Amino acid sequence: MDQEISTNPFADDKLHEECGIFGIWGKPDAAAFVALGLHALQHRGQEASGIVTCSGGQFHMERREGLVGDQFSVGGPIDKLKGQNAIGHVRYSTTGGSLNRNIQPFFADVANGGIAIAHNGNLTNAVAIRHRLVRQGSIFYSTSDTECIVHLVATSTYGPIVDRLVDALKQVEGAYSLVALTQKKLIGVRDPLGVRPLVIGKVDGAYVLASETCALDIIAADYVRDVEPGELVVISDEGIKSYKPFPPQRQRFCIFEYVYFARPDSIIENLGVYEVRKAIGAELAREAPVEADMVVPVPDSGVPGAIGYAEASKIPFELGIIRNHYVGRTFIEPSDHIRNLGVKLKHNANRARLKGKRVVLVDDSIVRGTTSKKIIKMVRDAGAAEVHMRIASPPTTDSCFYGVDTPEKKNLLAANYTIAEMCRFVGADSLHFVTINGLYRALRQSRRDGKTTRYCDACFTGDYPTALTDRDSETDNGQLSLLAV
Ligand code: AMP
Repeated sequence: MDQEISTNPFADDKLHEECGIFGIWGKPDAAAFVALGLHALQHRGQEASGIVTCSGGQFHMERREGLVGDQFSVGGPIDKLKGQNAIGHVRYSTTGGSLNRNIQPFFADVANGGIAIAHNGNLTNAVAIRHRLVRQGSIFYSTSDTECIVHLVATSTYGPIVDRLVDALKQVEGAYSLVALTQKKLIGVRDPLGVRPLVIGKVDGAYVLASETCALDIIAADYVRDVEPGELVVISDEGIKSYKPFPPQRQRFCIFEYVYFARPDSIIENLGVYEVRKAIGAELAREAPVEADMVVPVPDSGVPGAIGYAEASKIPFELGIIRNHYVGRTFIEPSDHIRNLGVKLKHNANRARLKGKRVVLVDDSIVRGTTSKKIIKMVRDAGAAEVHMRIASPPTTDSCFYGVDTPEKKNLLAANYTIAEMCRFVGADSLHFVTINGLYRALRQSRRDGKTTRYCDACFTGDYPTALTDRDSETDNGQLSLLAV
């Protein structure tokens, strides 16, 4: 055994996943289309990817560590993935050694046929379910919450595979958008709150499911519509059918998809992600104006917000920091030490532009504060006279339990310090986070109205839209209690 495997995701602050999913039905060389779709979704997960195809009732699976383009190029494993029907997954997780066995899609032979599942999101009662299933004799292969769904499908007393899947999903809590492939069907589902995105597209008559519209664009598929919260769509040779198997609930789409996670060229629920980010920048300019010579983004995540700030404030936009694009996102490196190095590898100050200038620096979020601290020092070392930090999201005060990787609350800067203290910590002359109502205005809502919101903004408010069974059972007694056994 090369590493310790925990059955409790909360035993390790780092198990939470970020993922992208894609599926296609009835398209020759389906795997190649999935590889392209996953490439467009690579920002949602860079550590591993996998594709499952089905041809003539036979499943084929390849799951690899690394970037899609490196692992699934023509002439490589993709050539073994025969068939017109396929699903795929890109994954980012910092679970380290257990990575291989957690790579998705998961496949199982269950009564009435095989099923492959790719999941984006995070279940908040997976530990409890897992303990119950293990007591009943299930043998788990991975540490992933997604495997719970596979086991629940396998042990369901219902017959048809769609009914078994619905039965399984009725037992889980938390966030899931998923695509599943059987011999006869491609299935797409969003949880009743619709926390994670999932869209339907069509290319040459073939149906496509994808986390974001940018994955439709890359294969020249037309956007049809979003899968609705709580909706299950079944795609087969007979076309597409829609079901609403769960009791309806008020929608709570992840607001952080708009802030950071989704690609700026994606359109989510008829709102362009880039437009929203620019509008947040404009809100910031109104909420926290400052006399300055230039607005500088922390590339790439701060770019649309900085453009919005510059337009609204009439202060020139400048590329005062240049990003090296051959290094992944800062968060990819797991340890603090390497993460710090990553910031230096990724960004460099444009000295000639910054010298003697008063700078408004815009980034999308502050999590631990590592990035802002390094960047501000770099901008000052390059000769900037003043650095005013503007953040295009409210302070991140609470962890995400729904599939965006955030550290434990104790490691979130904003959970532990006031804005003034944070300003001193990052070394800025002034610091302002967009207000929660400013963020809602950018989303074309007048404000967050008490408890009534159509977004999950728990990372900024602590208002979690589901029970957090695993977290709460852990904090009750310091250990995971065996629930529902
Ligand atoms: P930190 O250095 O810990 O304050 O992280 C903030 C930086 O990480 C910002 O520049 C964000 O663009 C980026 N970021 C924020 N949230 C995430 C996330 N969940 N995954 C990856 N990167 C993130």
